[in-house]
Amino acid sequence: MPLAISSKKWRQYMEEKDKEKENILKKREERKRLMTNKKEEQAKRRLEISKRKQCNKRKEAATRKMTTKKSAANSESNIKMKENRLPTIYCAGCNDELISDVEDDSLKNIGCDNCPKWFHLKCTTKKNFKYDEVAKEDFVCHYCLIHMI
Ligand SMILES: [Zn+2]
Ligand SMILES: [Zn+2]
Repeated sequence: MPLAISSKKWRQYMEEKDKEKENILKKREERKRLMTNKKEEQAKRRLEISKRKQCNKRKEAATRKMTTKKSAANSESNIKMKENRLPTIYCAGCNDELISDVEDDSLKNIGCDNCPKWFHLKCTTKKNFKYDEVAKEDFVCHYCLIHMI
């Protein structure tokens, strides 16, 4: 600071100083504002990212639920299929598949009472009988009859 100074100059000097101070303050404030803006922006961005992450998580969970539901349905239908599908039995006489619900008497199934074999009625010694009659009586297949003799 100059030693000899007129009041006018002094005032000018002080004004300048004030201005400078003001400028500094302004700059500082602006910087603060910018900083807070930056912080706010960062916070916002962070929030958005976390929101997006949550959204993704929710989506993932939803898809996972759907897939688990799907697989559950699949296993359910598999069980149903298994329940519906009776084990295939083949006729011990002609080796053709035995079908449980047929109209034709000659194709109806008859099981030997002496062994686990199953036959078409037409493939047994009782092929000339009515199915109902044969079913009423004990049935022993010809394999067993041969062994009995
Ligand atoms: Zn048969
Ligand atoms: Zn038998």
